[in-house]
Amino acid sequence: MGFFDSPSELRSFLSDRGFALKKRFGQNFLIDPNVRRRILSELDLHPGERVWEIGPGLGAMTELILNQGVVLRCYEIDHGFIRVLKERYGDRAGFSIVPGDVVKTWKSFQSENPSKVFGNLPYASGAALIGDFLENRFVPGYWLFMVQREVARRMVAPPNSTEYSSFSVLCQSFSRIQLLFDVPKEAFYPRPQVVSTVIRMVERKEALRVENAKLFVNVVRAAFSSRRKKLQNTVGSLLRTMGLSPAELFQRAGVDPARRGETLSPEEFLCLAREIQELL
Ligand code: SAM
Repeated sequence: MGFFDSPSELRSFLSDRGFALKKRFGQNFLIDPNVRRRILSELDLHPGERVWEIGPGLGAMTELILNQGVVLRCYEIDHGFIRVLKERYGDRAGFSIVPGDVVKTWKSFQSENPSKVFGNLPYASGAALIGDFLENRFVPGYWLFMVQREVARRMVAPPNSTEYSSFSVLCQSFSRIQLLFDVPKEAFYPRPQVVSTVIRMVERKEALRVENAKLFVNVVRAAFSSRRKKLQNTVGSLLRTMGLSPAELFQRAGVDPARRGETLSPEEFLCLAREIQELL
């Protein structure tokens, strides 16, 4: 079976199988072989490596990945696509697929510690999935994701910019992010409304000193809960509910409580979280 390099090939396969695309699952398939090759080269796979693929769809990247001799676990929600993938790759060594919503299934396999995680992520839920991984301290050595360009920009946005958010802080605190290249709408079928960006995330080892990721996330969320309010009111309220003195905490962390959340760097948030941990 071919790779579906054109809309007509893909359309006729979908109609032969009686598949209707489900918008809510962000089913835009990568049909450009050059982009696939570029992604494969960025993945830099080695035989025996343990790899995860999120949302393989009809296998646009799956076969290329399997051909590198890796051990591949896929996560897919669409039962029709799962049947196709099993028909194609079910007897290939190293291939397995986890059916269902990846947000609900991935934690059962967290201890596998894949060395690489790849996904052409659904536009609507890509950021939430990355956030879920990070909040649960799942930070593999190397991630390669395709996301909506705006999401990629939010991930690398610097403090004081309009795109800087709690999501930016979370991403930058636990990983180093590189925007590799944009992928135009024409590279997909059906054609999406937005441009995509391929990003690489690598683990940021020094951030791992934050033992309590939930606490860190709560502090960051509190700081961004109201963009106009000062830290003494946003994070300050959170500290009071924890029985801590905001004045003491801000002084220990060397952070001026009159600042707003959007002015703090990821390092300053990490410092705040560490000081809270010390005092608890
Ligand atoms: N990898 C394929 C490609 O590049 O052509 C398909 C990518 S498509 C943008 C996203 C894929 O993720 C679809 O196959 C969709 O069914 C799947 N998907 C969407 N939401 C999912 C979820 N919550 N859990 C697992 N898979 C999901």
